Amino acid sequence: MITRKSRHEISLMRSAGCIVAEALYEMKSAVKPGVSTAELDKIAYNIIRNNHAIPTFKGYHGFPASICASINEQVVHGIPSNDILLKEGDIISLDVGATFKGFVGDSAITVPVGIVEPELLKLMEVTEQALYDAIKKMIVNNNLSEASGAIEDCANQHGLGIVTTYGGHGVGHSMHEDPFVFNYRTGMPGPVLKSGMTIAIEPMFNIGTGDVHTLEDEWTVVTNDNKPSAHFEHTVLVADDGPVILTLAK
Ligand code: MG
Ligand code: MG
Repeated sequence: MITRKSRHEISLMRSAGCIVAEALYEMKSAVKPGVSTAELDKIAYNIIRNNHAIPTFKGYHGFPASICASINEQVVHGIPSNDILLKEGDIISLDVGATFKGFVGDSAITVPVGIVEPELLKLMEVTEQALYDAIKKMIVNNNLSEASGAIEDCANQHGLGIVTTYGGHGVGHSMHEDPFVFNYRTGMPGPVLKSGMTIAIEPMFNIGTGDVHTLEDEWTVVTNDNKPSAHFEHTVLVADDGPVILTLAK
């Protein structure tokens, strides 16, 4: 069932989203060669706790940290560690969730570590573009599949692989609610969007194949060809006067 949030619930989600945005901003500012992914996790944890929120990911199906930190060929769900240090030329995807007064914000970015290859800059740029192309389709009475189609078109235009095993999701009362958001056209229309729906859109594009698998740690998802991957995500409200991104800084 797809829930529609009340004005009050949406204001709490916006607060959760602001905290997530601040955590991403501060982590992005801290990204440089030599920094460990555990240090980035600590930054996010402190910001979330200082804002009287709960790190949504911590303990979720046993996940041990407040963020997912996924480097290069890692797509999503990388576990932060003191032993994983960023290197010049890497790209790192940072995904974070915060629960404020029972409501969740979920957002992710991919950022460069120092100077990176132009091919990687393009991968990040196109993946972020796909996110915004999809958000533009989050309009009352549109079909959710139009957002999925926008993501697919963006990947195809630039010859990038789409990760099809993961996708976006309804969000709010919990991190993962109905509906699932495919990052490609399935041929099914999917649900019709109504005001008050809150949905996380999250394209994941790869330089090579879209095929992925999970490492032995049972979390980290990597590309099958070990080529780099990028991931961008926002929590979006479908409102009568158009889409509203809830995971933005104040
Ligand atoms: Mg996320
Ligand atoms: Mg998500």
